[in-house]
Amino acid sequence: MSTAHHKRALCLILTSLVLLGFAVCARAAPLADSVILLIGDGMGSAQVRLAREAAGGAPLAMERMPYSGLITTHSADRPVTDSAAAGTALATGHKTNNGMISVAPDERVLRTILELCRDRGKSTGIITTDALHGATPASFAAHAPSRGMRSEIALQLAESRVPVMLGFWKGWFLPDSEGGERADGKHLIADLRRAGYGAAFTKEELSNVTGQRLLGLFDDGPEAPTLADMTLAALGRLRTDRDGLFLIVEAARIDWKCHHNDPAGAVLDTWEFDRAVAAALDYARGRGRTLVLVTADHETGGLSIEEPGRVKALAGIKAPAADIAEKLNADRSNVAEVLAEYAGVHDLTPDEIAAVKGAEHAADAVSMLLNQRAGLFWSTKGHSDTRVPVFAYGPGAERFAGEMDNTDIPKRIAEVLGIGPFPR
Ligand SMILES: [Zn+2]
Repeated sequence: MSTAHHKRALCLILTSLVLLGFAVCARAAPLADSVILLIGDGMGSAQVRLAREAAGGAPLAMERMPYSGLITTHSADRPVTDSAAAGTALATGHKTNNGMISVAPDERVLRTILELCRDRGKSTGIITTDALHGATPASFAAHAPSRGMRSEIALQLAESRVPVMLGFWKGWFLPDSEGGERADGKHLIADLRRAGYGAAFTKEELSNVTGQRLLGLFDDGPEAPTLADMTLAALGRLRTDRDGLFLIVEAARIDWKCHHNDPAGAVLDTWEFDRAVAAALDYARGRGRTLVLVTADHETGGLSIEEPGRVKALAGIKAPAADIAEKLNADRSNVAEVLAEYAGVHDLTPDEIAAVKGAEHAADAVSMLLNQRAGLFWSTKGHSDTRVPVFAYGPGAERFAGEMDNTDIPKRIAEVLGIGPFPR
């Protein structure tokens, strides 16, 4: 071998050693030890803008996060995804068919980012304003070929022993003999209590319950905690874990309101979601090692805003359209009073009053009235294929800027946490 060859070989060896050193260092020092992933179901960029303009135009907490991007959301078999396939993409980094929960189209089980974090000793939590077996939360800790397999999914969630699980409705956690939905006789709440979980069924119980593990199954109404209450309760439990945490927070009902093209409900639920985002950011600011991500599984309603200035018409909203409609009396003679009190609209025209009075469905008529006043158009009562936003704060946040696919989210989370490579 000539001297030149020797030099080149030596150079190659040195370069390899330096690169290896970098690789080892990168593995030894993950950017973050904790991730809070907040998902606004159905929340496209238009819904975010709607909520901001209705609040007076100042950026929401999520919009003040330093990095943002847009993600594509199509599923394996459809251009327009459902929450099951989208949740699977966000949880596993894989596309699957609509309706499937963290299994591939051939029903092969896919590992989720939550499961990977749990295997690394991190504390984990799932919070939702939907049932725990709802498609989005279920995608992180259960696996099923159909989202409709509620009994099986609830059982898998209970057996997952995710330390914090907060959602709505007890039915699929109780046997039918106790007024629940389960035909297999299993009492999952009792099982979880035996496994060391404190159980809470109201906001008050949530703030008083003891035990390092936490199960919450709430009912709708004034006793229910807000999403921010649930987020704070979860972070209070999980923060003691030295290995870090992985927490999912889902605002499920933005989607439900947008399915009804109800702008009042969309605004209120996005505001509630943003308060949970603010709580997560407050937590992260006190620590250098927590990445906070806010995104959506898909957009719902195909919302477009004609003129942002007109959205101010929703500034006085106090209830979603369905609740406003319920305040109307039998002959609907109180349209003006109800809209003044619950929608902040004080100048209804006789035509507008007549339209609500004469409508077959009062809630739809209230939505239509508010949409017209605020200059809003909806192109569907289903989901759309619009790209949805992702906002990022904390170590590694810059990796979530720009354009991505929804399957990139868990892969990049794994990189930031140093738990890659994510399973293919
Ligand atoms: Zn939906």
